[in-house]
Amino acid sequence: MIPGPIEVSPAVQAAFSVPPPGHLSKAVMEAFGSSLSRMREVWIAAPDAQPFVTAGSGTTAMDMAAANLVEAGDRVVVVNTGYFSDRMVEMLKRLGAEVSSVGADPGDAPSVDAVRHALDDARRRGGVKALFATHVDTSTGVRVDPQPLARLAREHGALSVFDGVCATAGERFRMAAWDADVYLTGSQKAIGLPPGLALLVATARAMKARESLRAKPPMVLDWLEWLPIMRAYEDRKPAYFATPATNLILALDASLREITARGVEAHVAVHERSAAAVNAAWKSMGLVPVPRREELRANTLSALRYPEGVDASLVGKIQERGVVVAGGLHPAIRNTYFRVGHMGYAATQPELLLRTVRAIGDALAACGAPVDPDAAVAASERVLASK
Ligand SMILES: *Cc1c(COP(=O)(O)O)cnc(C)c1O
Repeated sequence: MIPGPIEVSPAVQAAFSVPPPGHLSKAVMEAFGSSLSRMREVWIAAPDAQPFVTAGSGTTAMDMAAANLVEAGDRVVVVNTGYFSDRMVEMLKRLGAEVSSVGADPGDAPSVDAVRHALDDARRRGGVKALFATHVDTSTGVRVDPQPLARLAREHGALSVFDGVCATAGERFRMAAWDADVYLTGSQKAIGLPPGLALLVATARAMKARESLRAKPPMVLDWLEWLPIMRAYEDRKPAYFATPATNLILALDASLREITARGVEAHVAVHERSAAAVNAAWKSMGLVPVPRREELRANTLSALRYPEGVDASLVGKIQERGVVVAGGLHPAIRNTYFRVGHMGYAATQPELLLRTVRAIGDALAACGAPVDPDAAVAASERVLASK
């Protein structure tokens, strides 16, 4: 129950548990082609939006988005909500961009007005190329609302890029309706696979921005190197640029089939309900979330302050009870909280959520915290049983 790598469904596990298929095998061509069109469905993207699937991790997808849109001298704005936004800032600086980072205290997010001011300011100084934001910051469990940010970017003539590594398929995102330009993720989080794939969808507008770059990105990150490969696979034709992670392509197709069979909105609703169920337990035990306001709390993970008298040894005590959760990650508050993932397969399995609540409750009680694990489990059960 850490925020990635997550548990995967039996169908996903079965799909990748085969001897490595060739990248031009019929099975891989079919799974690759099917995955690309299903990504448009899960991203709720326009028919002319271009999906990319490459070997790598979420960080690869971040680097790919940055390197295809931004070059030295470009002005960009980053909505900074924590550890992974800091990483994006560093990547953009390495590309030579002039970065304006709009931050907030850990557990908070900058206001839309603050972001507007930063965009206005960048525009006054000669134009802004792109706005970057982390949909769910995994270090704090803080979720931002991408819709007004995408609109602001558009109003300022800027592209909008959203890091959905801890969000895609578990949080609401409507790429076409919101007119967002890039939505990216890594395979081992809410999308429900083992680690090893970088996934993103780019609009036609973003593809044009790549074509207008003066300097080409590193070859393995370059959308224009990958574009003919993605098109070939979508046409179920063989193509090669760099070897895809073939077992993971089979897993990707299996996971996207499960999500689209349930329906994307329904899949997000499952995550909402699971988050509500565990939140009821945290409330019952008096655990205080790191996100400062209710609307900032993600569906996909909980970041919870240690109660008074409890320290980071709690994580080990939870593990002794058969459940693996994660410690803090945000450098400013690292030793004051822990994190519980509830995304992907686990979000669809009430018994995994209830076992987690039980283990955390029992571990807290063992630390001397005044909690009632039975009441916490019952609080979760009530939410899971409600319609
Ligand atoms: C995990 C994560 C990343 C980094 O992904 P890796 O697969 O570890 O490279 C980036 N952004 C967010 C929001 C994440 O949760």
